[in-house]
Amino acid sequence: MTEALDFGIPGLNLAPGDHICALYMGAAERDAILLPYLQAGLRSGDKCICVVDQEARVVRGRWDVTPAIHLHTEIHRVRPDARVVVHNHPYYVSLIAALGTLPELVHQTGSLFLDDMYLLEKYDGEIDAPWRAAELAQQIGSANLVILANHGVIATGRNMAEAVYRAVSIERVCHLAYDVMVTGRTPSKMNRGDMVGMQASLIERAADVYWAGAARMTIKADRSVLT
Ligand SMILES: [Zn+2]
Repeated sequence: MTEALDFGIPGLNLAPGDHICALYMGAAERDAILLPYLQAGLRSGDKCICVVDQEARVVRGRWDVTPAIHLHTEIHRVRPDARVVVHNHPYYVSLIAALGTLPELVHQTGSLFLDDMYLLEKYDGEIDAPWRAAELAQQIGSANLVILANHGVIATGRNMAEAVYRAVSIERVCHLAYDVMVTGRTPSKMNRGDMVGMQASLIERAADVYWAGAARMTIKADRSVLT
């Protein structure tokens, strides 16, 4: 299988092997997150769903969870603000990760990641145990975006809107950074002060607008998500 899966949130590219984690407060928030995801899965014939507790133990479901679940639970343990953790391997992020570098921020919207990225230079195996995930969680500090060398990316957020907006934006940032890189020319430099302002504005306003747009597209495609 090579195509990305539809998992109910337009714009976020997830492929086999990727995982996403959302920590919710209350039944209403849980349903808002889960229903579009479950509907997309059921439409495409998925049958493997399970619920885990904060120690990553399966509390409901017939099958086991990915060993990489600890990435989600351990990051949340040391970063209570990171209530949503997305981990995936989109193409251009993987390309930049293969070069063992962070993407150069060459467009205003890249300001979203100003001083908020961390490069894990050695990612030499699956994070399949709590202690390995805890070590990673300690290393990344307060960064909301982590590039894992030769692997992929982790995006975190205080809510679904923030985490998904970061996860979607980083692929675009890496695509542009790569295209600019191959021109061999030096990109025009942005003013740091402007970038700081742009970053705050993107987090305050763009994430919610993106999320609302993604929700509208889901509702347009299938009104039954509202019932
Ligand atoms: Zn991975």
